[in-house]
Amino acid sequence: MNFKYILKILCIILTVVVVSCDIVKDNDKASGYPITPVPFTDVTITDDFWSKRIETNRTITIPYGFEKCEKEGRIRNFARAGGLLEGEYEGKMPFDDSDIYKIIEGASYSLTVHPDPNLVEYIDDIIEKIAAAQEEDGYLCTWKTINPDTTPAWWVKPGPRWYNLGASHELYNAGHMYEAAVAHYLATGKTNFLNVALKNADLIVETFGPGKKLEVPGHQIIETGLIKLYQVTKNKKYLDMAKFFLDERGNNQGHELYGSYSQDHKPVIEQTEPVGHAVRAVYMYAGMTDIAALMKDSAYMKAVDKIWENMVSKKLYITGGIGARHEGESFGDNYELPNLTAYNETCAAIGNIYWNHRMFLLHGEAKYIDVLERTLYNGMISGVSLEGNTFFYPNCLESDGKYKFNQGSLTRKAWFDCSCCPTNAMRFIPSVPGYVYAHRGDSLYVNLFVASEAEVNMNGIGLEISQETEYPWDGKIKLTINPKENKMFSINIRIPGWALEKVVPGDLYRYLEKNAPRVTLKVNGELFDYKMNKGFAVITRKWSKGDGIELNLTMPVRRVLANEKVKDDINKVALVRGPIVYCAEWVDNGINVLRLKVPDNVEFEYGYRQDLLNGLVVIKGVALNESGGKEELNAIPYYAWSHRGPGEMAVWLLRK
Ligand SMILES: [Zn+2]
Repeated sequence: MNFKYILKILCIILTVVVVSCDIVKDNDKASGYPITPVPFTDVTITDDFWSKRIETNRTITIPYGFEKCEKEGRIRNFARAGGLLEGEYEGKMPFDDSDIYKIIEGASYSLTVHPDPNLVEYIDDIIEKIAAAQEEDGYLCTWKTINPDTTPAWWVKPGPRWYNLGASHELYNAGHMYEAAVAHYLATGKTNFLNVALKNADLIVETFGPGKKLEVPGHQIIETGLIKLYQVTKNKKYLDMAKFFLDERGNNQGHELYGSYSQDHKPVIEQTEPVGHAVRAVYMYAGMTDIAALMKDSAYMKAVDKIWENMVSKKLYITGGIGARHEGESFGDNYELPNLTAYNETCAAIGNIYWNHRMFLLHGEAKYIDVLERTLYNGMISGVSLEGNTFFYPNCLESDGKYKFNQGSLTRKAWFDCSCCPTNAMRFIPSVPGYVYAHRGDSLYVNLFVASEAEVNMNGIGLEISQETEYPWDGKIKLTINPKENKMFSINIRIPGWALEKVVPGDLYRYLEKNAPRVTLKVNGELFDYKMNKGFAVITRKWSKGDGIELNLTMPVRRVLANEKVKDDINKVALVRGPIVYCAEWVDNGINVLRLKVPDNVEFEYGYRQDLLNGLVVIKGVALNESGGKEELNAIPYYAWSHRGPGEMAVWLLRK
């Protein structure tokens, strides 16, 4: 037999396996949203900003994560549960399994861009252990299988499977497994992990539901995980299961309610504002948005719209961070946005991006991408150091150099007993190219400005699109459109809220001076008189090869004030430029950053510093010290703080 013949037989076998699993390969069509994102695999980022982050995540953060998990027994736990190794559960959390799932998810995304046979083999080896840990009927949660009579943490009660679901994290582990297994399948085409996930999901469907167990997980994510399984298999039972878990929240007939901490205080469609644990909350709102879109459920849509309005107008930090309180890792009351003690968990920022992306795919409005962009460039990437091996769990907006806000540390830490944030960053960062473009039918959306090359296929129209830009440091964006054949279609270019006098939707923040950036748009060198629709400049014309669009957004340094109801920001001002939020750090400003005053008449300069913190734009101006003397003020992007030793830092500076 020659090689080609063997290959053909293998292909046939693979096809049979795939078909028998009833898996839908075309994820685009299966997403079920009115708008379809252009997958990250079709967008190659060529810029300096994100390329470095994604490469650091691939070469440093992901291997570091696997190494940590090996050392701390997270992989051995699977081997033990599978009877391949003796011994007790290692680890201090009931959700340690989920860390492995999340790193596999991130590594799978990375593999699609950077093929690496060694990594494929390494992951396959872990998947073998995961499969071994799965019980005969599909159950999979290592601490329960190894010994259900002990508990990894004091706050989890030992007991048989499905006992104490508010705290056991069995369903949380499962949800992360589904998300990871789908990513692994889409990235590699292999079904070894997906089959484990489906077997587990089938057990969940047999166990929970009307006439069966009516309980819900304490920590959400199984909802979006099940929906991803539905999207690849088209098996509606997974979608129905997700909706069941959402519908049952707040229903005390089936279980003793967990309360607002777990968004279980009332039915989800009656909820009107984000409350409780912020990560649980945004994962749930993402799941609810899926239901609103995929099942065309208007009650769900009304609820997520209301919750979102409340969040952006009363509970969102200027960095896009959410979750004001350390206590319960939770949202605070309306306008409760302290700076020193801001919690802003990195996971919550990631969840906020997931949710806002879905809201855009549902409604097609640019304001959701505005929130996504603000979170992405500020409150999310602050969570990982530029070196890629230390992390913030909370992301405060002020440091006095004394209060150890980061789980007992004044700066980023190498790891945490609860390592949700590092592993969430590992899975999220490689997916960033997937947020740049989307399309509705044959109408293209340009959502983010990132130097990149992309291939887009929308309703039979194939095109290549390239972006040249120094964004976020400069607002000149040049797009080159290369359709395979001359065609009439629309390109919707997001005009960012920051360029239209809107810091965020609502009145939580406003610009102090009225020097709005200028926005100009040219098509093939000629000024183009565009119409705005839902925050997008719409260009409808017949496109041909080499057509160019130039968007120019001027980026002055601007001052932002918070709504007077935010007590902690009264008489304070924040400096921003484009999408980037700035902070003053002790190392650039002398010790007493918190006492510096920035008068309203100070003019600012800015400039790019190649030598500083991987290259960034710094802002310079004059501030007044305590005795009224002039001091130079130097501000750096917020995400880059805390790389040069602990000390004072402030986003909100005294104004007068
Ligand atoms: Zn976290």
